[in-house]
Amino acid sequence: MGRDHEVTVIDRSKQAYLCGSFPLLIVGERESNKVRRSLGSLTRRGVRHLEAEVESVDTSSHTVTTSAGKQEYDYLVLASGAVYDWDAVPGARNAYSFYNIDTARRLRRKLASFRNGRVIIAVASLPYKCPPAPFETSLVLDWAFTRSGVRRDVEIHVFTPEPMPPGSGRAPGGR
Ligand SMILES: Cc1cc2nc3c(=O)[nH]c(=O)nc-3n(C[C@H](O)[C@H](O)[C@H](O)COP(=O)(O)OP(=O)(O)OC[C@H]3O[C@@H](n4cnc5c(N)ncnc54)[C@H](O)[C@@H]3O)c2cc1C
Repeated sequence: MGRDHEVTVIDRSKQAYLCGSFPLLIVGERESNKVRRSLGSLTRRGVRHLEAEVESVDTSSHTVTTSAGKQEYDYLVLASGAVYDWDAVPGARNAYSFYNIDTARRLRRKLASFRNGRVIIAVASLPYKCPPAPFETSLVLDWAFTRSGVRRDVEIHVFTPEPMPPGSGRAPGGR
């Protein structure tokens, strides 16, 4: 777009994380500081980052109300993502996860000393963010436990309400 356009990203967070790297981060193959980018660095591309909470949107007056004041717009793109409901499954808060940076770091610390036992990757309900991630992560764990020489002492199970991993079945048309 030409110079007469201004682009502003409003996000409560200072950082954006590349979630696709979390399966590798938990086995020590990626570092936290390599899988994040400062949203402030968008200014190098002429994009302003406003660190604020979006409180409401008024499409008739073209206004976004934020914790840092009102912002008027000509075009609005809403991309607020999905928020995890950690209380939907009783006890889930105490389980390990790799679905955000904090839980992935905690799981990484646990896996660093994990030598034997049963790992269950459990999908609680559909839909969920990134359908391939549980299956991909089971394969990453298989690889990591093989590399560290403990694979024979570890069981890996994936439980899901889906009949099969995404992309592995026949399309409805039979192809
Ligand atoms: C483990 C895992 C692995 C994945 N692997 C891949 C992969 O390999 N390839 C791939 O393409 N995708 C992958 N994904 C999916 C990918 O991360 C998501 O599809 C993507 O992050 C969705 O982007 P989004 O911008 O819609 O939402 P989000 O990334 O959730 O971003 C939403 C943003 O909105 C902000 N926000 C929300 N509400 C407000 C508010 N009221 N005020 C201010 N800010 C707000 C949040 O702070 C957040 O920064 C993976 C996801 C996971 C969890």
